[in-house]
Amino acid sequence: MSHHGVPQDLKSSRRDRLTASARAQSRRIDVLLDKARVRIAAAVEPDPVDVAAHLSSARDAEAALGGGYVHQTHTDRRSGSFIRILDTEAADAPSDAVPAKGSKRYAVQCATHQTDAVHFAELGGARRAARHPQDWCPQCQGMAAAKTKVRNRAAAYARQVRQG
Ligand SMILES: [Zn+2]
Repeated sequence: MSHHGVPQDLKSSRRDRLTASARAQSRRIDVLLDKARVRIAAAVEPDPVDVAAHLSSARDAEAALGGGYVHQTHTDRRSGSFIRILDTEAADAPSDAVPAKGSKRYAVQCATHQTDAVHFAELGGARRAARHPQDWCPQCQGMAAAKTKVRNRAAAYARQVRQG
């Protein structure tokens, strides 16, 4: 029995309370940390269900946009010409499809001018050609030349005006 301060049994029960409260606090921190981990994981790793849905819709879009006979389309910004990259070996190629040219399965065609297709073995080459129809479609070339003439004429006129 102590004469000073707190009796032993009260001291120990206070220590127990403190220990219990420390444990409770540490559990609360653990819970908060777990919640934070869940939030971080959700931010860093998207829900697998979302990923699967996204991949599936991307596949659908790819199938709808290309992957078939009309593998890809491109509208030329300068001429407005509509260019198609055709996969001559696609399963859905129509009976009147542009045929392959030897080992070159990709045919690039200006649908606006219905000119003869140019062929490529690799998709990369076909895509580059699709971006520059003035290099292989005579009519796109003509349009580009006409625009250059108009530009040159405008530039010449501007020079004249400046020279008074
Ligand atoms: Zn063209």
